[in-house]
Formats: sequence, structure tokens, C-alpha cells
Amino acid sequence: MSAGKLFLIGAGPGDAELLTVKAARVLGECDVVLYDRLTTPEVLALARRDAQLIYVGKHDGEQEREQARIFELILEHALAGRSVARLKGGDPLVFGRGAEEWERALEHGIAVEMIPGVSSAIAVPGLAGIPLTFREVSRSFAVVTGHWKTETNMDWKPYAGVDTLVILMGTKRRVSIAAALIGAGRKESEPVAFVERGSMAEERVVETDLAAVARGEVEVSGPAVMVVGEVVRQRRKLRQR
Ligand code: SAH
Repeated sequence: MSAGKLFLIGAGPGDAELLTVKAARVLGECDVVLYDRLTTPEVLALARRDAQLIYVGKHDGEQEREQARIFELILEHALAGRSVARLKGGDPLVFGRGAEEWERALEHGIAVEMIPGVSSAIAVPGLAGIPLTFREVSRSFAVVTGHWKTETNMDWKPYAGVDTLVILMGTKRRVSIAAALIGAGRKESEPVAFVERGSMAEERVVETDLAAVARGEVEVSGPAVMVVGEVVRQRRKLRQR
């Protein structure tokens, strides 16, 4: 039996129309689809009607066990000759552990095709009217994870001089992140936006500043992209609602 193939597919931020043409086509052809918590029903609806859909969402504290199960499922189905679509929110290689799945598949002789996706890091602020770069306001941006394993606080000093900071997976630790950014030299009055569930019907934007976030005054329910920088002010001019 010939080996199957693993397709690492970027599913974009949620709106199915933000999939690439290639992602939509391949998703419609694969035998097996592995999807997680960020996959929306509209995206899943593009799978082949008789495809096997398997939920592999991760829960807090069970990440490693779930990741091991994902590796096993990929191997099981691909080695049985099936085409496997591994759907990942946004772009598969931005904080998605997609590269680990790619490597593991190759180790077992499984061919891999990577299909990039529209990353929430760039698209979600953009949809909310927040450009990450803007002439004379922001020449640089950094995409940083707000989730790290160790108890010791992350060192934010390397990011102090980046004009715009985009923080993913940062809603839970937003208070300590904001305090650490102020400690690293960012202004207390610097504008901050949280864009929850970008590109989906329930999208919500909270605009505030670093000091208010550090004081614990800002309510956010994830998933959300946190944007820190003067570009957040552009939203007032660009948003239509
Ligand atoms: N690979 C993904 C990121 C995975 S990390 C990408 O390229 O977009 C998961 C984090 O992405 C979430 O915690 C949240 O910060 C962000 N995220 C993903 N989709 C989102 C959406 N539709 N709206 C807001 N944030 C989103």
C-alpha cells in the first residue's frame, strides 16, 4: 500500500472565505481531517462529505498528551495510505507546532505538503482597522507569544524598541504582560487593543491603554490578539461601524 500524505493546512482566522484557494481545494479532497478548537464550522464544511473528521483540540494541562495523540493519528492514517489534512488556525507554522508534525511525518517516510494560511497575527488587527505598520508611526512589528511554560516572567526588554507588538495567546496573562512592558520601558499611556474572535460574527474589539490593562481593569475573553502600539489609534479613522 502506498503511503498517504500529510497536508499542513492554514485555516486562517475563522472566516472560511479567508482560506487560500489551495487550502479549500485540498481540504475538499483529503480522506481524514484533524481539526482543533479554533476551527470554525464554516471551514469544516469544506471537507469532503465522506471524510473522517477528528477533533484534536487541546485543553489546558493536557497539551503534551494531546500532541502525542495527534502524532499517532497522523502516522496511523497516513501510513494506511490516506491523505490527512491537519487544519491549523491562521498559518500552520506560527505557534502551531506545525513544524514538529512536519518533521515527525518525514521521519516516518510520509510526504508532507505545507499550505500557508492567513495568520491571525496580521489579519485580525487588520480586519479591526489596525495596520501593523503605518508611515511615520510604525516601521516594525513583532509577533510574540504570551504563553510560556516556566514560572519566571518572560523578558520583554528585547521588544521594548519594536514599534508595534502583536501578542498571541496572551489574554490570560494580560495583566502581568502589560506590567512587564511598562517595566521594560513602554509608556503607560500607550494604546492597546484586544481583538476577540477576529473575522467571526462575534468579533469584539476592546481599546484601552497599557496602564489600565496592568491594573486589571480590562475584561477579555479569548481567543484574542493583543496589539500594543500607536497604530491602534488608526482604528478610529478606518473602522466603518
Ligand atoms: N497559527 C495561528 C496562531 C496559533 S496561536 C495563526 O497564525 O493565527 C493561537 C492564538 O492565535 C490565540 O490564542 C489568539 O491569540 C490568536 N488567534 C487565532 N485566531 C484568532 C481569531 N480569529 N481572533 C483572535 N485571535 C485569534
